[in-house]
Amino acid sequence: MDCQVFLDRENCLIQERKTGKRLGIGVCHNELWYLDRRKTDKAICHALSAIANEDEAKVMLLHCRLGHISFDIMSRMFSEQMCKVDKCKLLCDACEFGKHTRTSYVSRGLRSVSPFILIHSDVWTSPVVSLSGMKYFVTFIDCYSRMTWLYSMKHKSEVLNCFKDFCACKTPGRYPEDTTRSVRILMIPRFM
Ligand SMILES: [Zn+2]
Repeated sequence: MDCQVFLDRENCLIQERKTGKRLGIGVCHNELWYLDRRKTDKAICHALSAIANEDEAKVMLLHCRLGHISFDIMSRMFSEQMCKVDKCKLLCDACEFGKHTRTSYVSRGLRSVSPFILIHSDVWTSPVVSLSGMKYFVTFIDCYSRMTWLYSMKHKSEVLNCFKDFCACKTPGRYPEDTTRSVRILMIPRFM
């Protein structure tokens, strides 16, 4: 639905963008906007509210407040509220996403025979700049142990310094020799 919303202190007006036709009116009550169903197009009511029914909205609020417990348990706990709604219509996005599963990868067992022979590296851009101004990070993953070192950076040009620092650092205690890392192969993606 292609529409636009105009807001001022007292009114909320929903209009169809192309024709300017009024589709709906919102009213402010206790600093919250409520859709005035009597003055609002049915289609927009449906589009704007995932839950059309007030009882369903109450049940969904309860469901969220109780940590997304199942609707079957809610039927036992709140039979009075639950008998007012059709359970088939109750859909919670968070619960649906939470139940998604991912097929596990089968390990091919391809690993280096000792630490630091092969290091996989990649540079990532963070969607949010940190408080200290860090926008990128580079990872170094040891193919032998899958141990990962991560450096945060303000600029991508700092990658080389990070790599030098990674190589200069002593190996942690989990490795038998406490020596400087001598990387033989550094695997980086082409676009780096
Ligand atoms: Zn849920």
